Parts: sequence; C-alpha cells; structure tokens
Amino acid sequence: MAYWQNWSGKLSQKLEAVHFVRSVEDISAIIRQVTPGQRVRVAGAGHSHAPLVVGSERILDLGGFSGVKNADPDRKRARISAGTPIYTLGQELHRSGLALRNQGDIDRQSLGGACATGTHGSGRALQNLSANIESLQLIDGEGQLRELSRARVGEDFDALKVGLGAFGVVTEIEMNLREAFKLRELSFPQTGAELVAGLPQLMETHERFEFFWQPQQDEALVKTMIETEDPPEYPIAKEGERCSWNYEVLPNHRPHLHTEMEYSVAASDGPACFAEIRELLRNTFKAVQWPVEYRTLAQDDAWLSNAYGRETVTISVHQDVRVDESEYYAACESIFKAYGGRPHWGKVHYLDGSTLANLYPRWSDWWRVRDGLDPKGVFLNDFLAKVRPSR
Ligand SMILES: Cc1cc2nc3c(=O)[nH]c(=O)nc-3n(C[C@H](O)[C@H](O)[C@H](O)COP(=O)(O)OP(=O)(O)OC[C@H]3O[C@@H](n4cnc5c(N)ncnc54)[C@H](O)[C@@H]3O)c2cc1C
Repeated sequence: MAYWQNWSGKLSQKLEAVHFVRSVEDISAIIRQVTPGQRVRVAGAGHSHAPLVVGSERILDLGGFSGVKNADPDRKRARISAGTPIYTLGQELHRSGLALRNQGDIDRQSLGGACATGTHGSGRALQNLSANIESLQLIDGEGQLRELSRARVGEDFDALKVGLGAFGVVTEIEMNLREAFKLRELSFPQTGAELVAGLPQLMETHERFEFFWQPQQDEALVKTMIETEDPPEYPIAKEGERCSWNYEVLPNHRPHLHTEMEYSVAASDGPACFAEIRELLRNTFKAVQWPVEYRTLAQDDAWLSNAYGRETVTISVHQDVRVDESEYYAACESIFKAYGGRPHWGKVHYLDGSTLANLYPRWSDWWRVRDGLDPKGVFLNDFLAKVRPSR
C-alpha cells in the first residue's frame, strides 16, 4: 500500500501506487494499463491545500521531469519539463537572459502544478503563470502523446491553461517569457484603518504591491517592488529590503505549516472586501493569529482562471494546520461570495459544482474539452467527480 501527503500534511491518502515516472513511455504505459474504475492523478510538489491530488487510486509524481529543454532568447520563449521546480527554473532561465514574467510568493511549486491551479504573484499588470503558456505536451486519458497549442486546437486552448490535472499528464510547457530583470523592494507600515482608507490610492500608485495584514496588531508592512537597473546587492537582504534579480527577490521562505483560503474579486471591490474581512476578524474571530494577504492581478483569458475577464484583487486568509479552520473559513467565504469571488483552485474552498458553474462562464465548455481528451474519466478524482456537471 502506497502513501501520499501534501505539503501541510492536512491531506493524505493510502492508495494502490505512487509512480515516480521519468519517461513519456512509462507514463503512456501506466495510463494504458488502467483498469475500469481506476483513476490516476498527477502530483507536482504537493503544495495545494485543495484535494486535487488525493482521491484517486494512483498518483504519478512528475519530479523526474525537470529542466529547461530549450530556451530561445530571441523569441523570449522556453520549453520546460513540467515537473521543474520554480526554484531551479529561475536560475536556468537566467543563464539565457530570460525570466518568468511573474511568480508566486514561494518558489517550491513545480511549473506544471503552479500553472494547473492558476498560481500568481502580485502586480496589477501581471497575469498569473498559466496565462503565459504558449503550448503544452500532454499524455491524454488513452495514453496518447499530444502537442497542444492555439494553432492546433483553436480557442479550446484557453481551457487547457488552468487544467487542474484533469486533461491528462502535462510533460512539457512552452512558456512566454521576458528578459531577465532586477527588482528593488521597499516596505512601509500601515495601520488597518490607513489601509482601508488608502487602498484605492495604493493600488493606483504601485504597479507591484502586496501586504500581509496582522489581525492582532491591526497593521501591515506594505511591500512594493520597482524594476531597477541598480546592481544586485549581495548577500540578499531580508524580505522587504532586497535588490537583485527577479528570481532572487520574488520568492519567500514560508516554513510554518498552515492551510489557506484565497478568493479573487474584481479589483474595484478589493478595498471593500478587505474591509469586511478585517471587521470579521476584529469582531468575531478575535483569536486568529494568522494574517490576511492582499495582492493585485491582471485579467486573462484562461477559462478557469481566477482572473478570467476581469482585473482582480486576491485576498487570502490563513490558519495553523493544527487548528480546525472550517468555521473561520466558512465565514470568510460567505463574504467573498457576496463579492462574486472566485476561489484559488489550489486552496481551501467549500463550493459545489453549480456555484462554480455560475462563477465561470466557460465552465461547461471546459468540461467538454476535458471529456474529449479523457473520455473514460481516468483523471477524475473524488473532487472533480463531485463538481462535474451532470451529463
Ligand atoms: C506555502 C505556500 C505558498 C503558496 N503561495 C502561493 C502564491 O503566492 N500564489 C499562488 O497563486 N498560489 C500559492 N500557493 C498555492 C500553490 O502555488 C498551488 O497550489 C500550486 O498548484 C502548487 O503547485 P504544486 O507543484 O505543488 O502542485 P500540486 O499541488 O502537486 O498539484 C496541483 C494541481 O496540479 C496538477 N498537476 C501538477 N503537475 C501536473 C502535470 N505535470 N500535469 C498535469 N497536472 C499537474 C495536480 O494534479 C493538481 O491538480 C502556495 C501554497 C503554499 C503551500
């Protein structure tokens, strides 16, 4: 009996097998041998809080699919093995003078896993990682290797970008990149009241900014970043004071095991939604020690993107992994829902299929594309089976 658990340990499962695959041939053979009723999920770095990897009989660990296959500095593109950790990817791209356009708050995820859930950083002109996918190599539910791009499949390609591991096993991703760049961080404190009053102005003034508001202190250290031509400053300073290459400044160290709920709302609703979450913590959940995070994000066209068709603000709440977070998160979720919030696919939410269908205009189209690539439902785990539209 095999065993798998996610980063926080909150989600774990005994299952028939975890396959540490290293070749396309091995993956195809495993998929072709799946018996009726057996399901397979792909694991990246296991950093999702949502039950996306668990809930199947077999898991394929894509850690062996790592590295940049080829980088093209002229076209600002690279073809990258999907299991590549973002923390090695940054350096590899840098050697070719290239960089991801943006990335998340940590760099422990695999590229395939980060894209599959719409992982993002902060910046009002910066889209999430999956928006920059140019093409994908994927092994479908019949074990067949496919090359997928807009040129080959038309607008259905926008279904595949935020794929939740439901279309098949992504083995390579061609990413649209930019030239390597340097960032300088600056930070300054704000009280909760200052944030509530000043958020529209902060969002207007700073292209890249984010904060963690601490409920017990009712204050935040607002972190801004600007692109700079200044030389890198080594050793790298602490978070909020760094000046160096993109891949050295963007990721942070987040060692404390927690769960997280994150919702995306229209950018214009961000300040009011944050104000309501702050009041909830001050009035009802006074004991919560964990912060509320606030970030901005540019709209994109991926059908299941949290930023599909709208400029976005993301707001996250956190809780210690040893604590039952459900009452707190359910109260937050009802506020997020009132703002038409969309959940981060990799984080905790309690939505059912019909609610998700109302939040994503292309929900049923997404399932049509999925079913075309995996008609037997090999890649449907418990969560996906629960939220899929009835046929
Ligand atoms: C400490 C921490 C900090 C985080 N910070 C951020 C942040 O700043 N911004 C943000 O947006 N999110 C953040 N997240 C969430 C995280 O980025 C996502 O959950 C991401 O999906 C995790 O990537 P992973 O490689 O661990 O994927 P996993 O959790 O292993 O898998 C996620 C999904 O991707 C699928 N998948 C993985 N690889 C493949 C593949 N090769 N082919 C097909 N499907 C695949 C899986 O089946 C699953 O559905 C954070 C999470 C943690 C724990």
